[in-house]
Amino acid sequence: MSKILTFAELKAGVVRNVSFETIAAAKQIDENAEIVAVVFGNDGTENAANKMIQYGSDRAITVTDEKLKNYTPDAFTQAAIAVIEKENPTGIVLGHTSVGRNLAPRIASKLGSGLVSDITEIEGSGKDGLFIRPIYSGKAFEKKKIENGLLFVTIRPNNFTLQEADKNRSGDVTELDNIVIKDLRTVITEVIRKSSEGVDLAEAKIIIAGGRGLKSEEGFKPLYELADTLGAAVGASRGACDAGYCDYSLQIGQTGKVVTPDLYIACGISGAIQHLAGMSHSKVIVAINKDPEAQIFNIADYGIVGDALEIVPKLNETIKKM
Ligand code: FAD
Repeated sequence: MSKILTFAELKAGVVRNVSFETIAAAKQIDENAEIVAVVFGNDGTENAANKMIQYGSDRAITVTDEKLKNYTPDAFTQAAIAVIEKENPTGIVLGHTSVGRNLAPRIASKLGSGLVSDITEIEGSGKDGLFIRPIYSGKAFEKKKIENGLLFVTIRPNNFTLQEADKNRSGDVTELDNIVIKDLRTVITEVIRKSSEGVDLAEAKIIIAGGRGLKSEEGFKPLYELADTLGAAVGASRGACDAGYCDYSLQIGQTGKVVTPDLYIACGISGAIQHLAGMSHSKVIVAINKDPEAQIFNIADYGIVGDALEIVPKLNETIKKM
């Protein structure tokens, strides 16, 4: 029987949405496969495993170890290889997050397997399935087929529709307590969180992003206020990060985060190709820019020509009254 491993990613003990999306993707890859969730951590792994089962995994495997408290390539690769060797899966799905991007190629290289990364869609299923991924900074798509070996992919967050959680769903959760994680070259001694504790940018359904047009750190304040009203995350162009208006953890684009929210509001962003690479697949794009010729209007569904520093607060006031 075919079997697909889906890896759960925890952030502050909570399973990230993209992990549930890996289950949806696994079902699309092979609807007859047994889906086994894999959870690594130092605490709360059983709860996380049960969550994965509620979202459609048939069973789960946990590895609970102090060395898996935070992501480190060595520790996670060792644990992943041990689970894979035990389970012998026909497929593996990870989120295309900063962790997934780092871990998946390491696993593939250890297994001598192929890997299709950053997929946004699947056509067909099984060995005939085509994995679709954006290339050339999102200007084109390529379709990949895996003819031999593991069906191993990473999925871009927000592109696979979750099945609704079923709180009554149950499945076996097995703790693998005989895995030895050793010879670590990196140990994390402290994590200092710089980005806001608000909505996770990579998974946000609504993003309000600011650019150099906002002119200062102060200019970003109305964006945070609007984000609060809408339950959105704040993002930025590299121009704004380079100018010191916000932290680099907010950068969206070719060398920043790739996002696919339902709504992207770009404020004072010109629309350079490197920025578009990170957001052009957003479902609805609204651009606010002083310059009617700004490139961002070429991809925007709705455009507002004007001063973002005036428009964003007005937008916030109006939405609050609704
Ligand atoms: P600008 O291009 O300066 O645009 C500012 C915009 O604000 C203008 O369109 C202007 O009309 C408008 N404006 C001014 N005042 C107002 C106002 N009051 N109200 C409304 N609009 C106003 N960029 C990224 O974003 N992400 C990346 O990951 C990234 N990676 C890169 C990688 C490489 C290798 C290179 C070479 C570049 C990369 N860049 C990236 C940089 C990119 O090329 C642009 O320089 C950057 O995106 C520009 O940021 P911006 O749109 O905020 O600034």
